[in-house]
Amino acid sequence: MPEIPVDLPAQIPGQIPVQMPVLYWQVALPGPLRQLFTYSLPADRAVCAGMRVRVPLGRGFRVGVLWAPTQASADWVIKPIESRLDETSLLDEDLLACLAWAADYYHYPLGDTLLAAFPPSLRQGAPLRRLAFKLTEVGHTAWLADSIRGLRQKNLMQRLAAKPDGVLVQHLGDVPASVRRRLVELGLIEEFSILPPPSWPEALAAHVAAPQLNDAQAAAVQAVLAVRAQFAVWLLEGVTGSGKTEVYLHLIAEVLAAGRQVLVLVPEIALTPQWVTRFSGRLGLRPAVLHSGLADADRLHAWLAVRAGAAQVVIGTRSAVFQPFADLGLIVVDEEHDASLKQNEGFGYHARDVAIWRARRLAIPIVLGSATPSLESLRNLELGRYQGLSLPERAGGAALPKIYPLDVRNQRMQGGLSDALLAAIEQHLLAGGQVMLYLNRRGYAPNLLCHACGWVAECPHCDSFVTWHRHAQRLRCHHCGHEQAVPAHCPSCSAALSPRGLGTEQLEDVLTALFPDFGIERLDRDALSRVGELDRRLARIHSGAARLIVGTQILVKGHDFPNVSLVGIVDADQALFANDFRGAERFAQQLIQVAGRAGRADRAGMVLVQTHHPAHLGLNQLISHGYGYFARGLLGERTEIGLPPVRMAALIRADGPSIDAPNQLLATMADWLGQTSDERLVIWGPVPAPMARRAGRYRYQLLLLASDRRVLHAALSALEAWQGSRRPAGIRWSIDVDPLDMA
Ligand code: ADP
Ligand code: ZN
Ligand code: ZN
Repeated sequence: MPEIPVDLPAQIPGQIPVQMPVLYWQVALPGPLRQLFTYSLPADRAVCAGMRVRVPLGRGFRVGVLWAPTQASADWVIKPIESRLDETSLLDEDLLACLAWAADYYHYPLGDTLLAAFPPSLRQGAPLRRLAFKLTEVGHTAWLADSIRGLRQKNLMQRLAAKPDGVLVQHLGDVPASVRRRLVELGLIEEFSILPPPSWPEALAAHVAAPQLNDAQAAAVQAVLAVRAQFAVWLLEGVTGSGKTEVYLHLIAEVLAAGRQVLVLVPEIALTPQWVTRFSGRLGLRPAVLHSGLADADRLHAWLAVRAGAAQVVIGTRSAVFQPFADLGLIVVDEEHDASLKQNEGFGYHARDVAIWRARRLAIPIVLGSATPSLESLRNLELGRYQGLSLPERAGGAALPKIYPLDVRNQRMQGGLSDALLAAIEQHLLAGGQVMLYLNRRGYAPNLLCHACGWVAECPHCDSFVTWHRHAQRLRCHHCGHEQAVPAHCPSCSAALSPRGLGTEQLEDVLTALFPDFGIERLDRDALSRVGELDRRLARIHSGAARLIVGTQILVKGHDFPNVSLVGIVDADQALFANDFRGAERFAQQLIQVAGRAGRADRAGMVLVQTHHPAHLGLNQLISHGYGYFARGLLGERTEIGLPPVRMAALIRADGPSIDAPNQLLATMADWLGQTSDERLVIWGPVPAPMARRAGRYRYQLLLLASDRRVLHAALSALEAWQGSRRPAGIRWSIDVDPLDMA
C-alpha cells in the first residue's frame, strides 16, 4: 500500500538519528482515507495500540491513534511520530476491538471511528496530564532544616510540603513564575506532570423507596440475574406503564452492589430531567448524563470519571455506547425500537447493535426494553438469539387505554377536528380530565398557498414546501433549515395567500378559540428552543393549569401525564400511507406510545384515532390485537418480500450539484456489482431518493440486499476498494449499513 508522502522535511522536532533502532507503527488518522499510515519512533519508547500521537502529514500535523506495529518497506521514506500524547492507551482493548468491529461493519474509516470514542478536546490532541510541582528530596531536607530565606519562596515551600503528591500549576496562580523558577534552579522543587484524579459527586443515600415488584417484574429480574455473568440479550416486551423502568432499576441496583458499572441508552426525546431524577433518587447516586447538548468540558469530565470507574451509571443517547467503562456489568437499552439510536449520517452505527457487540465481548447481560419492539429484535427473538421477557399488564393495577378509530369521512371538520372528537374533548374536560392531541407536524401550516393561481411557497434548495410559522412570521424548510420572510401577497399574481394543512401552532389556536376556559400548552421542538421552557410548560400541565396538551412526537416518551384521560390522534392517514416500507411499523409504534401516555394512574384512558380509512386492516389489527400481534404479522410480510430484517440491507447514497452525475455514479456501481459480486446479492436501483433534492443537491440511492451478511459485506468492501480511486469531483457517496432512514 502506498502510505507515506515521500519528502522528509529537514528538521522535524524529534527526528530520529539514523543509527538508533526504530519501531514502525500503523497510525489511524482522521479523514476519509481508509488506509492506515506508517510512522516510525525510537525503539526505546513505550507504546501500545490506542495511544494518541501527533504525526506530520502533508504540511501540517494530525492527531492520530496508534493501531498496530508493522514492518517498514525499504521503498518509502517514513516520517517519525512527532510526539506521544499519552503514556498509555486511554481506551482499553475491549473498546478498541469494539471500535475496530464497528469501523468494519459500518464501512467507516478506522481513524474517524477511533477518534469518535474520544471527547472533542482529546480528539484535538489536548493533553490529559497537567503540570504540577512538588518538593525534591533536597528541598524536603531544606524545608525541615528551615534554611529557606525569601518569604515568597518559603510560602511556596510550605504549601508543597503539605501536599506530598504535588500541587497543580493552575492552583499556584498567586505565586510568581520567577519564584518557582528560582526554586527549581536551586534544586529544591521540581516540575512534573500528573493525571488529575477525576472527581465525581459522592453517592447520596437513595431516598425513594422501590415499590414491591409484581410477579411478572420479579420473574424478569430473576431471569436476568440468574445468569448475570454471561452474555445474553434479553428482550423485555412490556406494555406502556408495565414497569419496565422498575425492572431496570432493580437490575442496576444489583449490579452496582457488585461494584460494577451500568450503561443505560435512551432515545433523544426520552432523556428528560424527570427520568434522570427518578434514577438518582432510587439509586442514590448521580448518573453521568450524556447527550448531544453537553459542553465539551462536561463531556471530558464525565468521560474521565467513567474511565476511572468513579461514575457508576451512565445514562445517555446513542454515542454513550462508546464510553470507556472501567468495569461494565450491565447494559440497558430503553425504547430499543427508537430510530434515534441509529446515526444516519457519517458514522452510521446503531447504538443498540454496538451495545450488543460490547456486551458479548464483555460477557455481560444486555436488556432491550420496549412496548413496541423493532421487527429486527422480534426476529432475533424468533431465531432464538434473544431471550424474551414479558410484562403483559400495567403496573399498579392501571388499565391500558382503549383505542377507537374515528371515521372522519364526510364529517364537518373545524381546524382538523371532527365534531365527534370535539364532543369527546369537551366531555373529558368537563369531567375534570386532561386531553392530549397528537399531531406530528410543527408550525402553523405545512403549506402557504395562493387560492387564485395555485402558487405554493417552496424551498429554493429542496424538493419540499416550506412550513408557515405564523408566530415567528417566517417560512421555514424543515429539511435544510432555509428561512425566509412571509410574502404579503402571491409573488405570481398578487392575490392573498392562505394556509393549507394543519400544524401544531394552528391546532393550538383553534383549541384556544373553542375552549377558552381551559389552559393549553404546546409541546414541540419550536416551543422548546428556549432553556427552561419545557420545564415551565410541563409544570403548567402537571399542576392542572393547562388542561389541553398539543404536541408532536416529543409526547411519545419520557413524560407521564397521569391525568390525561383522552388522547386524540389528529391525523392517522398520513402515517398509514407512508411510502417507506417501515411506515406501518413506525405508525404502530407511535400510536401505541402516544396512547400509552394516557390513563396511567387510576383513570382508564381513551384514544380516538381520526382517519378516512376506519376499515384499514393494519389499523384494526393493531387496535384489536395489540402491537405484538400486529408486528409479528408485519414480520411475516417482510419475510415474503425479502426486506429487512429478513434480508440484510445497505443503502448507497450519492449526491451532487447536478442531476446526472450521482445517478451515473450509482449506475456504474450497480453494473460493476452485478458483474463481480456473489449472485445472491440483490441490487435495487439506482433511484432518486424520496426527497430527490435537498439543500441544493440531487440525491440518488442504491439498495443492496442479501440474506447472508457476508455476501453483503464482501460486496461493500469490494466496492470501496474499487471506487476509492474513482471519485468524480463534487459527488459525495456513502454507505449506510442497516439503514433506517430511507429518505
Ligand atoms: P414503563 O417503563 O414500562 O413505562 P414504569 O416503570 O415507568 O413503566 O412504571 C409505570 C408506573 O407504574 C410508574 O409510576 C411506576 O412507579 C409504577 N410502578 C412500576 N412498578 C410498580 C409496582 N411493582 N408496583 C406499583 N407501582 C409500580
Ligand atoms: Zn397567485
Ligand atoms: Zn430546504
